[in-house]
Amino acid sequence: MSPQDMPHPARTLPRTDPLPVLFVGHGSPMNAIEENEFSRTWHEVGRKLPTPRAILCISAHWETWGALVTAMEAPRTIHDFGGFPRPLYEARYPAPGSPWVAQEVQRLAGTSAVGLDDEWGLDHGCWSVLKQMFPAADIPVVQLSLDSTRTPQDHYALAGTLAPLRQRGVLILGSGNMVHNLRRVVFVSNNLSDLNRPFGLDWALEASALFKTLIDNDRHPELMDYPSLGPAVQLAVPTPEHYLPLVYALALKRPDEVVTYFNDQPVAGSLTMTSLIIDRHA
Ligand code: ZN
Repeated sequence: MSPQDMPHPARTLPRTDPLPVLFVGHGSPMNAIEENEFSRTWHEVGRKLPTPRAILCISAHWETWGALVTAMEAPRTIHDFGGFPRPLYEARYPAPGSPWVAQEVQRLAGTSAVGLDDEWGLDHGCWSVLKQMFPAADIPVVQLSLDSTRTPQDHYALAGTLAPLRQRGVLILGSGNMVHNLRRVVFVSNNLSDLNRPFGLDWALEASALFKTLIDNDRHPELMDYPSLGPAVQLAVPTPEHYLPLVYALALKRPDEVVTYFNDQPVAGSLTMTSLIIDRHA
């Protein structure tokens, strides 16, 4: 039997009700190991979800030229940040990979659209959230990169092709921050806990409110054309990478599904932790 003839685990997985889709505002990497209001909510969300067979994560922290999907058996934990305490560098998230899910992503997206990667692993946008949400690290995790050559509309279209995974028990998780401008962070001390200080500058609150209004009314084309949404949004999204994981989540919303927010809070002046779950039930 050649490899091509072997049963394909992702395709042969029984169909299920579609799993919810998540967008998580990840904020400070310290949320990976701290117990705070945000990480407690991640833990609670993970506890309430049906156990996924695998997780597909789209993180703000993996941008590539051309889309890639991690296809290794054992992805490494990537500590892609600087200046944090030693325990954060010692933290690991030893979840297995899933080459089969990676190949299924590639197949659904079209073979020319997504390449298989064996070098990346799990960056902190992915593992900082999963470490709190699924602490046992026993669910296979695959990451899909953000292709820098694509427009938001292209990302939305690519995400839409991945919808069948939801019925194969794959939890799709976008991890970024809707409002994310590190140049405008308001530090009141040298303490890293400032990153979680509940406080939003006027433009951050305005952009956050506008995003939620558009999300609640399924006005996705306007959300894809975010540079046209005015100065507050231009400050909230100075670069696309923390916003695009939201695009992946929204593209997977069905008409009969609703959006429920959690951790809906501004922090450090210029970020929001606002997160959402897309599901049939409120
Ligand atoms: Zn980030």
